[in-house]
Amino acid sequence: MLKRIAILGGGAAGTMVANRLAKRLYKELKSEQVEITLFSKDENHIYWPGYLFVAFNLDDPESFKKREKELLNPSVKLQTEEVNKIDLNNRTLVLKSGASYQYDYLVIATGSEYHYEEIQGYDSVVGFYDEIHALKMRETLNSFSGGKIVVNIARLPIRCPPAPAEGTLILDDILRNRGIRNNSEIIFTTPINMIIGIKEAHALLINEFEKRGIQFVPYFTVASVDPQNKVIESQEGDKIKYDLLIGVPPHSGAQVIKASEIGDRMGWVPTDKYTLQVKDHPEVYAIGDATDLPISKAGATADFESYIIVDNIISDLRGEKIKKTYDGSVMCFAAAGLGKATVFRFNYTIPPNPPTPLDTLWWVKLMYNKLYWDITARAIL
Ligand SMILES: Cc1cc2nc3c(=O)[nH]c(=O)nc-3n(C[C@H](O)[C@H](O)[C@H](O)COP(=O)(O)OP(=O)(O)OC[C@H]3O[C@@H](n4cnc5c(N)ncnc54)[C@H](O)[C@@H]3O)c2cc1C
Repeated sequence: MLKRIAILGGGAAGTMVANRLAKRLYKELKSEQVEITLFSKDENHIYWPGYLFVAFNLDDPESFKKREKELLNPSVKLQTEEVNKIDLNNRTLVLKSGASYQYDYLVIATGSEYHYEEIQGYDSVVGFYDEIHALKMRETLNSFSGGKIVVNIARLPIRCPPAPAEGTLILDDILRNRGIRNNSEIIFTTPINMIIGIKEAHALLINEFEKRGIQFVPYFTVASVDPQNKVIESQEGDKIKYDLLIGVPPHSGAQVIKASEIGDRMGWVPTDKYTLQVKDHPEVYAIGDATDLPISKAGATADFESYIIVDNIISDLRGEKIKKTYDGSVMCFAAAGLGKATVFRFNYTIPPNPPTPLDTLWWVKLMYNKLYWDITARAIL
């Protein structure tokens, strides 16, 4: 009997699972016995790490967007429509048009959403977490001649925890290259007491901050921004004046997770950290940013997770017991300035041991921006 696999979300996570499943099913099972349908509300697939490069005028937004259709294995059906509700008990997706889709397996890959509106005045920031704010940052930096720059992480968790520090270190080098670092101050503020919540990664980054005279302000949870007077204020009432405010917006899980009442308070999907199955629904998996796992929200996380989910759906289709488990692996090339990068590789039990930043790792990071479409999204490896 035909089995229907629904994948909800056409970002890195959903696309990798769809393509890996299609490839494996074609090789190992009669593909006509299985239908894979990917639902995405956007025609375009976004490569979010690219906005770090857009904000600093190192690349253009068009390099980091492709039509989802072009990325999917031809045997995967693409339905470009918003899903309004996931009904886990009836194994049904309810689409915006009112139509419904019944699945045998579901992979939830609905990612993160941003909420600038949650903090008064926060939409006035520039940044590198989306296209609009990255283009605004590029334009503002063009005419910036020095002053006080505040980098703020509004809330946690966020996509790619090292990215705010990467942006700060690249900025420091750009100001130096332009000869305006001496008349600039850089202040990095975050709600926790570390630059990134992994001690070994924090140690490397705080060392870079200290070498460069970047001020680190921990336990700063932003309450509001006053763009007229250029003041950012914390929940404790601490105020910092700025000339340029670079912000990382509050994140949450997708609206459909909240509307379907299947997530936690922030809309992240309760997921088994080893099997990646959604609690109480063994036919449903969650992947990528959408999960509530205690691990970085990163494309690399989704990449490792996708192999586990694909393996386990296939063994289930064959009537075998689920075998593979996820060990929390993540690997992330992190810029440590303009022209240097390190790599954070870790899992649930083994912490990262990042190498001293190297030029070669920067080039690997740049190269991967281009290779992403084939190697990761199209899953040719
Ligand atoms: C500045 C920056 C730098 C980064 N650097 C790195 C890095 O160096 N390395 C790394 O590994 N990661 C990095 N990341 C993180 C990485 O980009 C994300 O973790 C990854 O893209 C998450 O993929 P995803 O598919 O889980 O979610 P998303 O990319 O958010 O995709 C979710 C998809 O679900 C769809 N969707 C949501 N709701 C619905 C609905 N109701 N109906 C239909 N479709 C829906 C959306 O349209 C979207 O297509 C970075 C991110 C940023 C912002």
